[in-house]
Amino acid sequence: MTDDGRLVAGRYRLGQRIGSGAMGIVWQAHDERLHRTVAVKQLLLQPGLAEADTDEAKRRAMREGRIAARLQHPHAIAVYDVAEDDGQPWLVMEYLPSKSLSTVLSERGTLPPRDVASIGSQVASALAAAHNAGIVHRDIKPGNVLLGDDGTVKITDFGISRATGDVTVTATGMLAGTPAYLAPEVAKGYDPGPPSDVFSLGSTLYAAIEGMPPFGLNENTIALLHQVASGKVTPPKQAGPLTALLMRLLRAEPEDRPTMAEAKEALAAVAAGRAAPDFPVALPTSHPPSWQGAPVQVPQQAATRALAPAANSTRVAPAPTPPRPAKPASPPPARPAAAPRPAGRPASRGPVKSKRSTVFTALAIVAAAVVGILLASMWSKDGGEQQQAAGPTTSTTKQAAGGEPSETPSKKPTPPPAKITTDPTPQQQEQAIRDYFALMPTNVEDGFVRLTAEMQSNSGGLDGYKGWWGQVRSIELNSVKINEPYAYEVEITYNMKDNSVSRERRLIVLKWERQGLFIARDHHLGRV
Ligand code: ATP
Repeated sequence: MTDDGRLVAGRYRLGQRIGSGAMGIVWQAHDERLHRTVAVKQLLLQPGLAEADTDEAKRRAMREGRIAARLQHPHAIAVYDVAEDDGQPWLVMEYLPSKSLSTVLSERGTLPPRDVASIGSQVASALAAAHNAGIVHRDIKPGNVLLGDDGTVKITDFGISRATGDVTVTATGMLAGTPAYLAPEVAKGYDPGPPSDVFSLGSTLYAAIEGMPPFGLNENTIALLHQVASGKVTPPKQAGPLTALLMRLLRAEPEDRPTMAEAKEALAAVAAGRAAPDFPVALPTSHPPSWQGAPVQVPQQAATRALAPAANSTRVAPAPTPPRPAKPASPPPARPAAAPRPAGRPASRGPVKSKRSTVFTALAIVAAAVVGILLASMWSKDGGEQQQAAGPTTSTTKQAAGGEPSETPSKKPTPPPAKITTDPTPQQQEQAIRDYFALMPTNVEDGFVRLTAEMQSNSGGLDGYKGWWGQVRSIELNSVKINEPYAYEVEITYNMKDNSVSRERRLIVLKWERQGLFIARDHHLGRV
């Protein structure tokens, strides 16, 4: 490369090249406007894309960069700016004199468990803040953990795998990078969510202690993906006080993993020489296993938009998810839509980032091998978009702003979502959410009709959905706040039949399709 000394975006003078990875090249640079040292990453887009895909990839990179820029945390590398220069997107970041954990591990082999716990707790604190704001990292691995020369640990590359990956994966069916740090559900083709980050953090810390990630580093990517998908982790041999905690982070079922905030507390305890606390079990135990179903392919032609900050908000949220062609959908959650625990079922995108490497075709092959048949059978069984085919009926349900449905359950089905023929207004969107929750838990079948096909599948089908809601005595919808168009943060209290109460924040994402607003996703954001 002959880029040294080049001025990027009229402002950043490239200095020493620090390194390069799957998605770009990193330089130390001088910000000539603010007179400070920065790190600049040129995001490399997959060559050979159609022009429209390249444009979309650029837009997504800029969007992801902007979202990452809003995350301010002492243990996350700050993103200062995103720019386009010479047709490529550039990310301008805080420069941290550091080595990545992967570099340190290649130099030293392994690290002591308590040091690893300290690294993990710092990284987890940033990730917990991100999750709380509705953003998923998606690519936690030793290469993205920077160990500062001053002892500070920071996680970098928030959302960048999505920024550079989606179009490439869609366009070429290729997979990039080692799958060694993927969560099992992601290896199976489901979308990554907060629990997937917990798993990947566990894998990263496991690698730091054992010298290799939980499923090894098989050069055969397909074999490795199969191993990851199996979720069978060999217990670490050198983890000492971290052993049990690591195994919790690495549970195959997303629902069985602690939250990132819980992981952070437990890691901090081990780093301080204390025992890791037990994780609270807040919810009923009888629920459909989250893997009893199979991923389902759902056409996504309509505008599914996920999580971006409100215009004048300082909070961070994931970027809008563009419409995508058929992809494996999220895993069936242990609880149906908007149930009081993390669903472990991230947004609807393909499993992995894009990378120009030798493993490009692995995902497509493995996705076909691991889930393809199931996908096909689920798809045909569900009839794709059949769920909204329910015709209008005459019964009504009071659409209160919260609380238990205030009407005796109707034997007749409630009407499907109101017909909306033009871009739904925020008021209509909020009302759609209120209408949905007003049905629950009494009119479960009517609620089910208001889910997208993907969401229905993720909820374990009608049986799984009913099974879970059958445990709920009543709910109170305490608040509904817009996060961005089509994405709303709600606060709900679940009063369970076993007398437990769970109050939590969830992010509900709507999809406008076939002249109706449907619940497309929900993410657990945290307990209140
Ligand atoms: P991948 O792109 O697959 O995640 P990677 O993490 O190794 O791979 P990059 O993120 O491109 O690659 O980073 C390359 C190197 O640049 C890293 O090893 C890291 O040491 C260094 N680096 C990245 N970001 C910064 C930063 N903000 N400050 C200082 N050094 C950085």
